[in-house]
Amino acid sequence: MDLGLNGKWALVCGASKGLGYGCAAHLVQAGCHVVIAARSAQPLQEAVAKLQAMKPGVQVIGVACDVTTEAGRQAIWDAAGGPGTDFDVVVTNAGGPPPGDFRDWGREQWLAAIDANMLAPIELIKRTVDGMAARGFGRVINITSGAVKAPIDILGLSNGARSGLTGFVAGVARSGIAAKGVTINNLLPGAFETDRLKQTMAGAAKKADKPVEAVMDQRRQTIPAKRFGTPDEFGAICAFLCSQHAGFINGQNILADGGAYGGTF
Ligand code: NAD
Repeated sequence: MDLGLNGKWALVCGASKGLGYGCAAHLVQAGCHVVIAARSAQPLQEAVAKLQAMKPGVQVIGVACDVTTEAGRQAIWDAAGGPGTDFDVVVTNAGGPPPGDFRDWGREQWLAAIDANMLAPIELIKRTVDGMAARGFGRVINITSGAVKAPIDILGLSNGARSGLTGFVAGVARSGIAAKGVTINNLLPGAFETDRLKQTMAGAAKKADKPVEAVMDQRRQTIPAKRFGTPDEFGAICAFLCSQHAGFINGQNILADGGAYGGTF
């Protein structure tokens, strides 16, 4: 299937590994030039080399920055320069806030979560959608979480900040830009086998004094598919939503969780 992304420019945040990397890989395979952003320079450069090797002729630019800060976002525009700054596709993504008890969180923790998981994507949308609308094509995908649909109590910071983004997107996706070929959707991961998931599982295993593989297996059994998702299949969904075929999917929350969410809707 021709995704219609050949020669377009994408910004993919949090893309040196995990779900963001999966998205960047599928966009590159579709012929899209990509600017990838992540915090640490070394894994970022390794990711750039791997992506570059996938598709000769496609440009891959890495920017080591924290996308949750204004300075970090500006670094993307400064480093990318030229046509790359007219992004046709933007995938917003950053690390999730830490788990905990809401009684322990103060204003500082809340503001950090809101900065990372609500305001950073909103700022990236603000910088890009009018240009997309003027050119008649644009796709924004926000990587949020299955916790938006089925909140997890210890992830209160994530539940709150990401729900704020979800409400904002529901409005802006249906604004004037919708008639100009721009779509904004949220992609909600359930449990995907990434470094983050492995770290969470290692923490849970330590707490329960159990082998990590036993804890992971227990978790797999809670998913109807009886397995974790892979960054590769997440990336394929993202690339389809960015494609020319997905122009009528807008303002949606698309859950990829192996059937874990139990509701009818
Ligand atoms: P990961 O730790 O495997 O990868 C995260 C990537 O984002 C890395 O490249 C890292 O450098 C980059 N990154 C993190 N914070 C950044 C920042 N402030 N600025 C720039 N780059 C940054 O994580 P993942 O599993 O791919 O998760 C991606 C997102 O999806 C997270 O927000 C996570 O909370 C959410 N999520 C993941 C799962 C899962 O099962 N993996 C489930 C639900 C939600």
